[in-house]
Amino acid sequence: MISFLPVGGGNEIGANCYYLNLNGNGVILDCGIHPQKTGLDSLPKFDLLNDKPIDSCLISHAHQDHIGSLPFLIKKFPYVKIITTPQTRAIAELVLHNSVSILKKEIDDESFEFYSHDEVDLLIKMIEYKEYRNQFELNSYHQLKNSDVNITFYDAGHILGSAGILLENNNYKIFYTGDINLTDQTIQRKAKLPEEKIDTLILETTYGKTDSDLLLNWQAESLRFAEESNKILNNSGSILIPVFSLGKMQEMLATIWQLMQKRKLTTVDIYTGGIGTKINRVYDYNKYVVSRIDKEFELISIPQKDYYEISSPEDFFSNPCIVLASSGMMIKNTASFNFAKRFLKQKDSAIFIAGYMDPESPGYTIANSERGDKIHLTDFDEAAEVKCEIKNFKFSAHARREDLLRIVDKLKPDNVILTHGDDEAIDWVGSSILKKYKSIKTSDSRSWERIKNLLIA
Ligand SMILES: [Zn+2]
Repeated sequence: MISFLPVGGGNEIGANCYYLNLNGNGVILDCGIHPQKTGLDSLPKFDLLNDKPIDSCLISHAHQDHIGSLPFLIKKFPYVKIITTPQTRAIAELVLHNSVSILKKEIDDESFEFYSHDEVDLLIKMIEYKEYRNQFELNSYHQLKNSDVNITFYDAGHILGSAGILLENNNYKIFYTGDINLTDQTIQRKAKLPEEKIDTLILETTYGKTDSDLLLNWQAESLRFAEESNKILNNSGSILIPVFSLGKMQEMLATIWQLMQKRKLTTVDIYTGGIGTKINRVYDYNKYVVSRIDKEFELISIPQKDYYEISSPEDFFSNPCIVLASSGMMIKNTASFNFAKRFLKQKDSAIFIAGYMDPESPGYTIANSERGDKIHLTDFDEAAEVKCEIKNFKFSAHARREDLLRIVDKLKPDNVILTHGDDEAIDWVGSSILKKYKSIKTSDSRSWERIKNLLIA
């Protein structure tokens, strides 16, 4: 018997965490934290796992919404075996240490038990790592009959170390996409998929409601970005680009540098900072061992100034510059949020949005505003007038919706479980699959009650 249980992130881009019981072998797929929530609300519903066998936890990649609650899982289930790719393990060390300090600042709840830097060190030591396409076996602690599972990681083309996960139990094959991208970025090559037929596909649906005509490919979007940037920079303005410190920071930095080298973009100072610059080193260190567009390219060779070393944000306006600051969704009190307040007041400058914004985030408010609007960045912020230019770009590290259908086409699953998208996204992908492939069964995890335990085989 094989069953599936969403523990978090079923119908939103939040605390991704799914549980599979494969003939008694309990496997957790991802263990994320909701970036917009705090305290217990931000964690997956781990209590749903109380009476279940838990043997291992496989992490698809090191974004917070896929790995952020791992330290809490380990407090509750200390014997879980954790396995990732070596790159995800290296980045996990940086991001989990970084969130120790962030969580402490954010949460004012005495009942909430934090984790410490020492606990992160121990956790990282516990993580086993496996290379892409290197099949390994997961056994259940209880050595149950028919419970052995073979696992293979496939490069998901999303960020460094990201993996789609193939699980095989008694010839039944399940493929979990994690976050997946089927087109090249500037550094990262597109995903590689298994060659065989899959029985159950667990599919992300981030861009399920986004018209793909709006998602140019990365290279075409770069040229549009250069054109719009030149208008601002050549008029003595500066540009703020909020980016995730993992993935988007590295890809945008490489994109901007390449455009400058090709003389398509005016050469100005580039500001980066925070954990993103540490992650750049992990990208450089792995340049030969993962699939890359240019294996010789190194982020460290790009001249950058550190935004934490400026005396005041006014420095950004003394000369035209580009500031790549995290967080990607301009969450309150982060560098990009604080800089945005200053940029909004500057009529010659601009905020360029590079990717997805959660509708609840300050970044979403800014992305959907234009010059002259009065906006509230948070419930506690006074109305601010938008004086700068706001432009939206779609540099996507996720598959477009037609690409999601291509995955279905290639893997020919009998069942598809839709995750990691809002209602509209899941509806579009679900109905498109049903229209095209009459025999495929689709499910989604919108109703926790209805899908308490989805029997898939
Ligand atoms: Zn991701």
